[in-house]
Formats: sequence, C-alpha cells, structure tokens
Amino acid sequence: MFTDTLLTWYEEHRRSLPWRGENDPYKIWVSEIILQQTRVQQGWDYYLCFTAQFPDVASLAEASEEQVLRVWQGLGYYSRARNMHFAACQIMNEHEGVFPNHYEDIRRLKGVGDYTAAAIASIAFGLPYPAVDGNVLRIISRIFGVTDDIAQLSTRKKITRICQEYIPDNAPGDFNQACMEFGAVWCTPKNPHCPDCPFVKTCYAFKHNSVNDLPVKRDKIAPKERYFHYLFYINNNSTILEKRTGNDIWRNLYQFPLQETNDNLPLKGKKPTRELKEILTHQIIHAKFYVQKVKELSPRKDQIVVGVDQMVDYPMPKIMVQFLKEAFDS
Ligand code: SF4
Repeated sequence: MFTDTLLTWYEEHRRSLPWRGENDPYKIWVSEIILQQTRVQQGWDYYLCFTAQFPDVASLAEASEEQVLRVWQGLGYYSRARNMHFAACQIMNEHEGVFPNHYEDIRRLKGVGDYTAAAIASIAFGLPYPAVDGNVLRIISRIFGVTDDIAQLSTRKKITRICQEYIPDNAPGDFNQACMEFGAVWCTPKNPHCPDCPFVKTCYAFKHNSVNDLPVKRDKIAPKERYFHYLFYINNNSTILEKRTGNDIWRNLYQFPLQETNDNLPLKGKKPTRELKEILTHQIIHAKFYVQKVKELSPRKDQIVVGVDQMVDYPMPKIMVQFLKEAFDS
C-alpha cells in the first residue's frame, strides 16, 4: 500500500529535471554527488556544465584535478570534486573504464557512501538498495512514527530496514527517487502539504499531531568561527596567489596570501577594503580583504605571481570569487 501510493504520487508530481530518466550510471553519479550538499536549482547548471565538460568517466579521469575544481568552483564542498576525479581514475584502473554494476564495487569508489551507492545501484542497475537521505529520514519518521534521534546510526538502520521492506524489485530506482522527491516537495521540513497528502489517513505524525516534532534531531554543535585576512598585493597588474594545502577546507584552491587570527579585529595598522562572510556546515568564515599597492611583489616559495587578468584561470573558494567579482565588475 505504502509503495503503490508513493509511486502513484511520484508519477503525478515528479519534477522534470535534467538527470531524471537518465540511466547512464556516470551521469546519475554526477547528479547525486552534486545534489548531496546543493539545492536542485543551483545544481542544475553545474550538472549541465560538468557533464558537457566531462561527458564520461574517461574524460573526467583524463582531466587535471585543477580543471575539475575550476568547473566545480562556487559549488562548495570541494572534496566532492576531488573525490570524483580520484574515483574516475579508480574506474579506469580497476574496472577498465566501465562503471561498476555491483553495489559493493560502487560503494568502494572514493567519496561514495551508502546513500550514493544505493541511488546509483537502484536507478542505473535496478538493484533493490534503499537510498536513505535526509528527505527519506523525515518522511519515514513521520509516516511510520519513528521517534528516535535520526542522528543516531541505529535510527538510520531502522529506517533503512523499513525502506527495505517496501522497495519493489521491479522499480527500486523509482521508489528511491519517489521517496526523495516526496520529501523534497511535499512532506517538507516546514509547512508540509498534509491536507492534500495521499498518506494523510495513515501518517503517524499527522494522526498524533507531531508533524513539527518529527523527525527527532539532537541539537547541533555550534559552528566554529574563523577570521581570515586576505592580502591582495598589486604591482604592475600582477598579484600573489597561494594554494591551500593540508587537511582543511578548500584544499587545493587558490587564494591571496592569508593570515588567520583568533578574533575579528583587523590586522594591526591595516584597514580592510571589504569584509565578507561565508557560512559552511561546521564553520563560519569572516574574511577581510586588504588591497595593497606595492613597489615589488615578494612571493614565498609556495606562492606564485600571476597577472590580475589570469586569476580567473585558478580555482578559488567562493568568497574569493565574490570579492573579485565585486572588485572588478563595479
Ligand atoms: S500527512 Fe503530512 S506529515 Fe504525513 S506524510 Fe503527508 S505531508 Fe508528511
């Protein structure tokens, strides 16, 4: 009953999206990775651009990491792009360039977790693995009355078991997409469409007046505040860039020379030209930009001198791109 109702709803309400109806596992993979942390509207153009630039596994594997990051620029969570590039090489080396068609092999690709592996396996290969994302955690909690904390692994396992019970062998991809779509457009976190919902008569949350209480989520940890000071040195239309390295955000992206401090005060004796803020999942970045005309550029060994016009060729964090856009488009 749950399955039939859900699939009927999906048939009537599914949105037309560029990756919908796609059965090329490579393109399904790209769409799923993009959508992991990105809204559909923003991901749409990136998906089209990414698949135009790298239409298959081989072209992605052949590209340099820098080229891949450049196409990904602005989308955030850059480890997704780095992992995809790595995984494309894995497919070339370990699977002779053919996208693996077993769940376990897909799951072993870098950056592919349970959810993504199940989504690819079910949509591209018709394998009955439930893909449980935030939308699915919410709708199953509400409809079936799961009142445990969804941050707990045991709750996720419980919800996966419920999905396993209902996923049909003949349409596992549609079932997974229907669950996600139902959560994304109907049983939304706020103001779900309960009065017109096909589950209104059986939904636990609706019957128990607990729609706003489910799913149960424990309090989030407060994000860490960080204070970045970017020095935009200019000499003769050239500047200095450095590549971010180490185990930190924005690895392998380029930026102006950076000083990080523990508080939000400007660097001593300097006045910032612009201040910008970027909110990430676990961090809030407060960035100050200092434009400084200098007589000579003195890069460190790990820094490079580039023409101001050439900066566009380097993959950069969103906050840098925003600063440059404002500085040069105005
Ligand atoms: S009745 Fe409301 S809470 Fe229940 S599944 Fe439908 S939209 Fe979600």
